[in-house]
Amino acid sequence: MSDPLSASGSPPCWICGDPADSDEHKFKRSDMVTRYGTNWPPVQQPFVFRGDGRWIRIQGPNSGQNLYRDMLCKPCNNARTKPFDLAYERFSTWVLANAATLCDRTEIDFGEVFGDSYPEETIQLLCYFVKSLGCRIVDAGAEPPSALRRILTTPNIIDTTPFRVTFGINDFWHRVDPSGHIVGKGELIRWPDSSAEAGFSWSETLGYLEIYHWYDVVWHPFPYGGDVMTGPLRSVRLAHYDPFPSEPAATMAGVADSL
Ligand SMILES: [Zn+2]
Repeated sequence: MSDPLSASGSPPCWICGDPADSDEHKFKRSDMVTRYGTNWPPVQQPFVFRGDGRWIRIQGPNSGQNLYRDMLCKPCNNARTKPFDLAYERFSTWVLANAATLCDRTEIDFGEVFGDSYPEETIQLLCYFVKSLGCRIVDAGAEPPSALRRILTTPNIIDTTPFRVTFGINDFWHRVDPSGHIVGKGELIRWPDSSAEAGFSWSETLGYLEIYHWYDVVWHPFPYGGDVMTGPLRSVRLAHYDPFPSEPAATMAGVADSL
């Protein structure tokens, strides 16, 4: 995509089109701090795998390697999407706190996660994932679909279709780290459609919980199973997925040593 520059010379905010002057974390700062603390000695700096297969270590939650630079304007990154960020932080904290039992559950009960405010906060959580996917698409150099903008700019939206989410337990990541401290991102896939806008699929990982993003991609049934979410739900059934069933319990140390 050739980014048209705004009148101010900054690239436009992908949500509203105003000049983008605000960075967004790739891995949310709160996810990093709750799982790893604020100061990381060199041997504990996390590995991040780049798109070309090489890896780097990032030095802290605010490291430049962990930022999408100038992708949003301040009003969109702060006021507009703040409730979405807060719902996500609440969800992420719950996922980490329940790492000992999440693997044995068949569903996520959002009443347990959010209490009585689950009808509002489940939609805000979905909107956080919309923001996250949009930033990833822009970072890949593609044009974010207009429906993603519409979802984020429509007050009190109750249905995020054609954006859908499914949740699943990744049994391999559970064997690697049952304490649930892993954070990760999957591969962004663009699904060309000759008659309409392209669809996208992606995933984010919190511990061993996979959050699958499906933008205008519909499966019958969806891969790995689980309930499809586009609006407020009290609970969703979880998918289960084991990408390496014959791999018993690799450790991250072992992975690092082999590089
Ligand atoms: Zn904006």
